[in-house]
Amino acid sequence: MQFIDLKRQQEGIRARLNQRIHAVLDHGQFIMGPEIGELEQRLADYVAVSHAVSCASGTDALLMALMRYEVGPGDLIFTSPFTFVATAEVIRLLGATPVFVDIDPSTYNLAPDQLEDALSRAGQGGDGRPRGIIAVDLFGLPADYPAIGAIAEQHGLFVIEDAAQSFGATLNGKRAGAFGQVGCTSFFPAKPLGGYGDGGMCFTDDADTAAVLRSIRIHGQGEHKYDNVRIGINGRMDTLQAAILLAKFDIFPEEVRLRQEVAARYTAMLQSLPGLTLPQVPPQASSVWAQYSVLASSGAHRETIQSALKRQGIPSAVYYPTPLHRQTAFRDLGYVEGAFPVSERCAQTIFSLPMHPYLTREDQERIADAIRLV
Ligand SMILES: *Cc1c(COP(=O)(O)O)cnc(C)c1O
Repeated sequence: MQFIDLKRQQEGIRARLNQRIHAVLDHGQFIMGPEIGELEQRLADYVAVSHAVSCASGTDALLMALMRYEVGPGDLIFTSPFTFVATAEVIRLLGATPVFVDIDPSTYNLAPDQLEDALSRAGQGGDGRPRGIIAVDLFGLPADYPAIGAIAEQHGLFVIEDAAQSFGATLNGKRAGAFGQVGCTSFFPAKPLGGYGDGGMCFTDDADTAAVLRSIRIHGQGEHKYDNVRIGINGRMDTLQAAILLAKFDIFPEEVRLRQEVAARYTAMLQSLPGLTLPQVPPQASSVWAQYSVLASSGAHRETIQSALKRQGIPSAVYYPTPLHRQTAFRDLGYVEGAFPVSERCAQTIFSLPMHPYLTREDQERIADAIRLV
């Protein structure tokens, strides 16, 4: 059994992939070829925003979004400590300071009341100027943007959506990527819409923001190729990667539906088991289930479940074993153990089950049986 079965997906779209890849080999525009614009248009339409700017990775998408706001030393950016390292890494890369804010225990996303508290504390201190928020849509579920957006507006902050895991999810009828001033997603192979290599995209409704992101993506380019108006990066997506993503996007809406079916089956099979906390999706939201993550009753309980699964040849994973405020790279920020109890508790007890659109009911029954026998 695979944790994510990309082989099975490839079998279904092999002809489409070959056709798309060969078209690029034939036209030879490997940098910023026509597939780049085609993918940007199709995904902007899907997310229902005016502009999409493709780039080399989800990390670059976040970095470019922060660069759009000229984030730098002395700036405070509020974000979750319970996320992949890239979310906070880009803040530090620009010399700014991440301010961690604990998560909501039922969604694993930034808790708006904790954000208010962190902002009122930051207002009293003198160690930086609050500039923005990076909210993360963890495991594929959008964060609480109505509440986060209201707080941001009150304090004059920008909101960046880290939609690396949530492309295809919705909240109040809007698609992930469309929240905040800039939505950033990733096409790392294991993400809901994954390529065959690295890739990312920024989404925005603001034409000026889109123009600045396009400039940052290519070395701060101005009107002409050798006219540089700002410091940027080499953040382009490869044409070949866009071609592959176009082939995969054809079946993506169907795959989102299948993921939701798989998740619903897990919930039905596991809900009567004692000691497990299953993932919750608020009624106004849908998740794209980048991960199906469950809380065990303790660290020891998690260990027992994971070894029982392993004995049956069933893979499982832990996202994330160490919250960012306890990572070595962030140690100098001075956070102590216990600073974010919800994140720390989740890190100790959470585990994720195999999740992909082609997971069969039979395999899920085997998984549920293995857990039931613990
Ligand atoms: C994967 C991921 C990223 C980074 O995306 P890459 O394409 O790997 O650079 C950022 N944030 C979160 C929450 C992620 O899961």
